[in-house]
Amino acid sequence: MSDFIEVAQRVWVARYEWLDVNVTAIGSDRGLVVVDTHSSGLAASGVIDDLRRLGAGQVAAVVNTHSHFDHTFGNGAFRAAYGDIAIHAHENAAAATVASGERVQGYYRDDLDDPHREEVLATQPVPADRTFSSAVSLDLGDRAVELVHPGRGHTDGDLVVRVPDVDVVLAGDLVEESAAPVYGTDCFPLDWPHSMDVVLGLTTAGSTVVPGHGAPVDREFVEVQRNDLGLMADAIRHLAGSGVPLEEALTVGEFPFPADGLAEALRRGYEQLPRGRRQLPLV
Ligand SMILES: [Zn+2]
Repeated sequence: MSDFIEVAQRVWVARYEWLDVNVTAIGSDRGLVVVDTHSSGLAASGVIDDLRRLGAGQVAAVVNTHSHFDHTFGNGAFRAAYGDIAIHAHENAAAATVASGERVQGYYRDDLDDPHREEVLATQPVPADRTFSSAVSLDLGDRAVELVHPGRGHTDGDLVVRVPDVDVVLAGDLVEESAAPVYGTDCFPLDWPHSMDVVLGLTTAGSTVVPGHGAPVDREFVEVQRNDLGLMADAIRHLAGSGVPLEEALTVGEFPFPADGLAEALRRGYEQLPRGRRQLPLV
């Protein structure tokens, strides 16, 4: 259980203890748009109870900020509770939702001690059915909501939700407040800082930015994180360009984030660098 807190007029955020993930509800004439659906069918049932307690209307649509299970595994529960509502996502996120979800279910299957094992395995991943490539505006009657794909970063299908009338941006996992940005097996570490410039372009000095995990932040926080993501991309290029083998990069490099979360950033970064930028070790 968690309370939906109003962070701007008719924009409520609930922060859940499991994975410290956020679910946001945007109010309108046409009902609520719920952004991200938590990490299992059972968890989403709790979110739906919290929304009913909020009493701000029926859910009219769902948005997934990206494909990962902690943002999409409640999709089916929302459909079960509210009928055949639209689920919006970037086209790459929709395409990846089932495979990405099944991969995570594999990890949970192997982890017999995880308290959330049963509910994750019991969830049927449901992908979005309304997709777009670059940007789309949802007409909610008295309010418009923009979905923007700023480029590749945390995944290749991240979107940010902008609510222009109250200067709110929901950034998904492109921005992290809970911990350092997460570089997973499907991340794009070299593109991420450039995508952050697009996100920053959607903000003002007074914006409220809601990350995928953790407390809402301001533009200054996002600028600092963008710079760190840029330093990380530079570090990858520098290591690869100096001929440091991938296996040694984690111990040799200097990074803006804790090294224990950077193995995939390095692996993916090395893989994505143009050939000419990787050099053989100098003997
Ligand atoms: Zn997440």
